[in-house]
Amino acid sequence: MHETMVAQSIFEIILEQAKQYNTTAVSATISCGQFNPINDEVLNFAFEIIAKDTPCEGMTLEIIHIPLRAICKGCKNEFDFDVYKPMCPMCESCEFDFAQDAELLLENIELKDPDTK
Ligand SMILES: [Zn+2]
Repeated sequence: MHETMVAQSIFEIILEQAKQYNTTAVSATISCGQFNPINDEVLNFAFEIIAKDTPCEGMTLEIIHIPLRAICKGCKNEFDFDVYKPMCPMCESCEFDFAQDAELLLENIELKDPDTK
């Protein structure tokens, strides 16, 4: 399953960070695009299992879904692609190209301040 692989790879990165500072992780923010969407619930569930009994246990994951950008072939307007209204909001043309989709990215990791434990 896609989410399990994602959970595993972000877990490894976060764990590395936590170990480096000899602390535990509090939260992390991940962003992803639309062609490879992540189910928040499935990801959180998979992460919970992987993170059990590690410095990442109990941390929260925030997943930001970045909209896919499209560029109108008619008026060159760039807009957020909406699957329910797939047309250019400027000229209502249905002819457009997709811009590059956002990649899965680990945006931010928040570690517990070692001094406050
Ligand atoms: Zn247009």
